[in-house]
Amino acid sequence: MMSTFQINDFIKTKENSGQHSSEEINFFVRNLNQFSQDEITKWLKAVKANDLDDSETTALTLSMANSGTVLSWEGLEPTIDKHSTGGIGDKVTLLFVPLVASYPDKRINIPKLSGRSLGITGGTIDKLESIPGFKTNLSIEEIKEQVKKIGLAISSASANLAPADKKLYAIRDVTDTVDSISLIASSVMSKKIAGGSKNIVLDVKFGSGAFMKTFEDAKKLARTMVTIGKNLNKNIKAIISDMNQPLGYAIGNTLEIKEVIEILSGKNVNDLNEVLIVLAKEAVALVEVDLVKAGLKPASTDLENNLKDLLSNGSALKKFNEFVKAQGGSLEEFNKLPKAKHIEILFSENEGYIHNIDAFTIGEVVHNLGAGRKTILDEVDHSVGIVLYKKYGDKVIKNEPLLEIHSKNKEDAQLFKNKLLKAIKLENDKPPKLKLIREIIK
Ligand code: URA
Repeated sequence: MMSTFQINDFIKTKENSGQHSSEEINFFVRNLNQFSQDEITKWLKAVKANDLDDSETTALTLSMANSGTVLSWEGLEPTIDKHSTGGIGDKVTLLFVPLVASYPDKRINIPKLSGRSLGITGGTIDKLESIPGFKTNLSIEEIKEQVKKIGLAISSASANLAPADKKLYAIRDVTDTVDSISLIASSVMSKKIAGGSKNIVLDVKFGSGAFMKTFEDAKKLARTMVTIGKNLNKNIKAIISDMNQPLGYAIGNTLEIKEVIEILSGKNVNDLNEVLIVLAKEAVALVEVDLVKAGLKPASTDLENNLKDLLSNGSALKKFNEFVKAQGGSLEEFNKLPKAKHIEILFSENEGYIHNIDAFTIGEVVHNLGAGRKTILDEVDHSVGIVLYKKYGDKVIKNEPLLEIHSKNKEDAQLFKNKLLKAIKLENDKPPKLKLIREIIK
């Protein structure tokens, strides 16, 4: 057992690139409220400078997960959780959950806790709230009941999950210590561990619209999170995907739900489908990992085609409809919603092939149109956003429509037109095919 814990020694150890024991980290997290903000900040800065190794990130993750409620889905297994590090136009959760829950003969349950928009990236809960009547604040008991009946639920993370992470994150946010792969990995994974699912798939994004700007950093983050998950006895995989241009064609809450329904209806095959199918395939394979390892079952084959069939034969859409209805939403009312007050088409001033549609700029514009929040008290405008007509690799001729701006008024659309035009890079040559999914970390 650990002898006496001295906060100054703990900080010095990390400042000198030393290693903490799991007991020390556990003590630090359990007694977080007894240390001053200054002491905690010193430690966070030392971690940012010198990193944590895998045993330290694992201990930090577990201690933060154990600082609050750790959910259990006993009786509902196999369950799976999915997490994206966030991107622009990223509506994969809304497709993944009904698709995987509709997989026949496996009955994979998905009690999914999701968040609201953060910075320029949208949030699944805000997107769902564009459906009239949709209830996003289910209790854990309500989630369990619904999952038992129909296999899926998506609700805001209302339980007291990983409160130590909340406290540390609030300090990181104001002390320039968010940007540390060790701390990000532990923070994300503490909530996944508290979320209680045995199986976890992660979508780690890199590029201008993502938290991680480079592939190398995204890979390091993905590897760290997968290692933590495995150390804590989870079946876990991560894909690393490109977020230099928005995912799909729609960005903005209502517009994204419309795109989700189109894809679930098999109408709109685009880059979203690629991310969706790979993640869903990894997810279905994960739930049988233990059986395959124990030699009790051969690995399933043809998962990809089976998943594509669920999209084309209407099964995933049927599951989505059941889910919306179960949570009080009405798709009839959704289809009657008025469009944004002002819709304007932006035309190309030049010609060429699209080499990039800068995801960061698109995210920023949609945020400023009113789709996200600047403060926690702001109301989200569900109707505003952007619909792209073209994507990476497409040919554009002069005066051809590039995108639609959905805004509150004409002035807002005017404000962002030049910025949007500059975000779309045209070149004379056709660019190489985009490699959307760069690696899978197992
Ligand atoms: N998201 C999280 O949950 N934690 C971080 O540290 C960064 C992003």
